[in-house]
Amino acid sequence: MTSASKRVLLAAPRGYCAGVDRAVVTVEKALELYGPPVYVRKEIVHNKHVVTTLQKRGAIFVEETDEVPEGATVIFSAHGVAPVVHEEAKALSLKTIDATCPLVTKVHREAVRFAGDDYDILLIGHEGHEEVVGTSGEAPEHITLVDGPDDVENVTVRDPEKVVWLSQTTLSVDETMETVRRLKERFPKLQNPPSDDICYATQNRQLAVKQMAPDTDLMIVVGSRNSSNSVRLVEVALEHGARAGHLVDYAEEIDEAWLEGVQTVGVTSGASVPEVLVRDVLDYLAQRGYEDVEPVVAAEESLLFALPNEIRRDLKARGMSDKMRHDGSFSEAGSLH
Ligand code: SF4
Repeated sequence: MTSASKRVLLAAPRGYCAGVDRAVVTVEKALELYGPPVYVRKEIVHNKHVVTTLQKRGAIFVEETDEVPEGATVIFSAHGVAPVVHEEAKALSLKTIDATCPLVTKVHREAVRFAGDDYDILLIGHEGHEEVVGTSGEAPEHITLVDGPDDVENVTVRDPEKVVWLSQTTLSVDETMETVRRLKERFPKLQNPPSDDICYATQNRQLAVKQMAPDTDLMIVVGSRNSSNSVRLVEVALEHGARAGHLVDYAEEIDEAWLEGVQTVGVTSGASVPEVLVRDVLDYLAQRGYEDVEPVVAAEESLLFALPNEIRRDLKARGMSDKMRHDGSFSEAGSLH
């Protein structure tokens, strides 16, 4: 195959969403404001590169609140936490900064509201995922987890007339609709959420992959294995016609053998992935003859979320900027560019 026939289809949108950008900038600003160490409960976002870069700058990632020294500052990750975690932090006199994505908070509010109206809530999501643990913790006695279409037959409810489904924000849109279809066969009165729980970023990244997949011999998704939305992108690519698909954290993880006989490579990245990692993959491919890069634009995104109130207040008090970036870069001294 000649280099002339090799090409890359590059998904847009890809990479950082507004919630991830906000969460990462929150940790950066906290380090600037308070100095290291700053504690973060769980990975701030599910990306190995982001976590190791912030660790080098003085962030300490812990699994549980009781690992944080009394009186220290702790940031809650973008995936959200159950109310009990706020109570634990209060008991330890921790200064808390909540970097939960506002679109996850929206699902929490829906759960609280429907539980208040005594609904059974069927939460579609992946068992053990931090977001699901956090959302379920809002109303554990009202929420039943439904982990995909095959889990539907196991679901029981108190009153089939009063049931609503909600979902994790980072699921496959198609698989979730299949789960809902099967749930409605069992519970015809099942109510839909007031608005989409699968977030705009997850939907847009899947849309771009669906457009590219039929023309793609190999789809490379940049993202970490514990990143739900990144893993879903590989699945969506394969379901929609990509001949092969792989998830990589770094360009070095690409196996040369994957490129054998490959004319068109699709490239995208999950919502927690800095753009620098995608550029490394494009460089890797260009060095192997895939220099022609064609964007595939499925949607335009311009959403930005304001930083958490605690950070904005402290930045303002010190006359510091609370500007966001939305390009997946790290700021100032920690830049890996
Ligand atoms: S993937 Fe969606 S829900 Fe998750 S942080 Fe990004 S915008 Fe928020």
